[in-house]
Amino acid sequence: MTTSHIHRALVLGGSGFIGSHLCESLLDSGTSVICVDNFSTGNAVNIQSLLEVKGFQLVEHDITEPLPDIGMVDAIFHLASPASPADYHRLPIETLRAGSIGTERALEIASANNARFVLASTSEVYGDPQVHPQHETYFGNVNPVGPRSVYDEAKRYAEALTSAYRRSRSVNTAIARIFNTYGPRMRAEDGRMIPTFIAQSLAGDKLTVTGTGQQTRSICFVSDTVAGLIALARSNEPGPINIGNPVEASVAEWAVRVAAIAGSTAELDFIDAVEDDPRRRCPDISRARLRLGWEPLIGIDAGLRRTVDWFTHPTSPAPTSVG
Ligand code: NAD
Repeated sequence: MTTSHIHRALVLGGSGFIGSHLCESLLDSGTSVICVDNFSTGNAVNIQSLLEVKGFQLVEHDITEPLPDIGMVDAIFHLASPASPADYHRLPIETLRAGSIGTERALEIASANNARFVLASTSEVYGDPQVHPQHETYFGNVNPVGPRSVYDEAKRYAEALTSAYRRSRSVNTAIARIFNTYGPRMRAEDGRMIPTFIAQSLAGDKLTVTGTGQQTRSICFVSDTVAGLIALARSNEPGPINIGNPVEASVAEWAVRVAAIAGSTAELDFIDAVEDDPRRRCPDISRARLRLGWEPLIGIDAGLRRTVDWFTHPTSPAPTSVG
């Protein structure tokens, strides 16, 4: 574990859900931030307040194209990729290109700057896991031609490319495998479980649960995920390192819990199962605890309450700090 200060960071995908919180957190700790985003799934509103902050710079750009000169940086966070199933089904080729060409361009910038590189990979590299909970040593169970493959395989390729740049070009890389993250600034319509249940609860609609609802998920509040990414960037660890909250529950249980917090008494509506949907998902975070001294700090009910509050008043500042 090291605690080296990051002076100037490049955040690719910085106007997205996690990226905007990451930009904010870096600025709070005195790091200058260049946010690059093509707004394909991100929202300019997420970073609007940062445009006034000293040390923040926005570059509207597609990372699959050569980047304009942005000056020296000492850390690069690569989060630029469609991330929700609704988005990557709508943008399948773009997702593969962001993970492949985009990652290569990002690694070249890291190489030229001698910068620390952090890849935002995903628990989806484990596919429908046959090992539970998922430890970083598990190689995964991914269908390479199914509808989810554009995302899963793009990230697996990005991990392979990152590892190759580390091995053959001595680039200082790290791989974070992020598990389901939730919090303010998620889009109600992005198709992910928590925003869907919150939006349905607040509208008084039935909560749509796919399949039997017995498939499990583990959810991590966004400030915890961001703290994990920054801890990884400040360390010398190559990863892969799981970043997630090992509190596991079935999708049906999450629906009931969200409804209770949002004050809804609506019933669950069981709809068709999703193809290749993982049956179980829970991170083993012993490596992150040991090597980064990191673990989630925000309790589930507190995180869900903050998220529901933000969905109720989306124009208010998104509360992500630990306090
Ligand atoms: P998001 O869609 O809100 O953010 C992604 C951002 O990347 C958006 O602002 C989008 O406009 C931008 N982007 C996409 N393609 C781009 C391109 N070619 N050039 C420039 N910008 C581009 O998603 P998120 O939930 O904030 O996820 C951020 C990252 O974290 C993604 O790489 C995702 O795979 C990873 N991740 C997220 C989760 C989660 O639960 N949210 C879990 C695992 C991994």
